[in-house]
Amino acid sequence: MITRERAGAVLTVDLGAVAANYRLLRARAAPAASAGVVKADAYGLGVGRVAPALFAEGCRFFFVAHPEEGIGLRAILPAEAEIAVLNGPPPGTEAEFPAHRLIPVLNSLAQVEAYAGLARRRGEALPACLHVDTGMSRLGLDHAELKALVAEPSRLSGLALRYLMTHYACADEPGHPLNATQLAEFRAARARLGDSPTCLANSAGIFLGADYRGDMVRPGIALYGGAPTMGQANPMAAVVRLEGRIIQLRTIDAPRSVGYGATHKVTGRTRIATVAVGYADGYLRQLSNRATGYVGDVPVPLVGRVSMDLTTFDVSALDPDRVRPGAAIELIGPHNPVDAVAAAAGTISYEILTSLGRRYFRDYVGGPVAGV
Ligand SMILES: *Cc1c(COP(=O)(O)O)cnc(C)c1O
Repeated sequence: MITRERAGAVLTVDLGAVAANYRLLRARAAPAASAGVVKADAYGLGVGRVAPALFAEGCRFFFVAHPEEGIGLRAILPAEAEIAVLNGPPPGTEAEFPAHRLIPVLNSLAQVEAYAGLARRRGEALPACLHVDTGMSRLGLDHAELKALVAEPSRLSGLALRYLMTHYACADEPGHPLNATQLAEFRAARARLGDSPTCLANSAGIFLGADYRGDMVRPGIALYGGAPTMGQANPMAAVVRLEGRIIQLRTIDAPRSVGYGATHKVTGRTRIATVAVGYADGYLRQLSNRATGYVGDVPVPLVGRVSMDLTTFDVSALDPDRVRPGAAIELIGPHNPVDAVAAAAGTISYEILTSLGRRYFRDYVGGPVAGV
């Protein structure tokens, strides 16, 4: 059992901020409905806490990636929640979807065939989403499959289509021409498939404008405080705070190096704080010599390489009385937004969040009442 005292870091997840972000996105997307994407353990933040907080805020449609995630979520959420599985059913698992009241996102004719076949055999309409690929070349019906489906719409018989979906490749770049191209292609596909409700926009897509949203939006990262649009001010409330614990301090007087590979050289008198967080905790090794921690308002540069369980910071700028073993260095937080940490690592907020380690003490604050 991880306790606050024993853990190398405290990860604070502000469920009130998740709820506020949901409200902001819902208001922004209205009249479109707002789902919540909680795949990958709610982007690493803990689906068992995040999903009930979203439900309490009025969210009734949830997306996960894997069937297993859907089965887990079904056990957490009240019955009126709808749960869709983005990856669709792996062959042979179709019957598990109605068994757990999961809605598959059907991404290929083979998935359509298998799932509609199941519905017809059971003699009941099964809800499903249908995903058409308009520019990701990843999941969804391609041109040839769409054509085959349009030529023979009875392939869909047995299915109750909940949403026709597509996914933008460049929604976080509002000026990117692919956005309009994908929308046009989606509209053409919908005109040929009949008028089921539509679901197009991820977090960034919500900010592209009303045309891009459809009947329901499906934000993920913005719920968790990540900036939806590249290069623009982030309207979302910060959700995550990560404070690493200093477990040792030393003063270096002679020229010396710090860490593996001796990548950081110390010349003058320097004070080094060693924090019990490393790349095994998802504090990425790419942050070596690039990130900044904070003690109060004072920036303390990360020096040397991030190792598996430990990271070193130059705390020379601080009054020695302010840094003692047991004190905390802010690794993610108000001075160090998740997007800034991601930029320092050469990655995106999504990867920082989904990498957050299992060894942190997790403190959930601002959640719905009744201990949820
Ligand atoms: C992950 C995912 C989302 C959520 O995207 P964000 O950029 O995190 O808002 C939406 N739709 C699909 C298909 C996804 O895979």
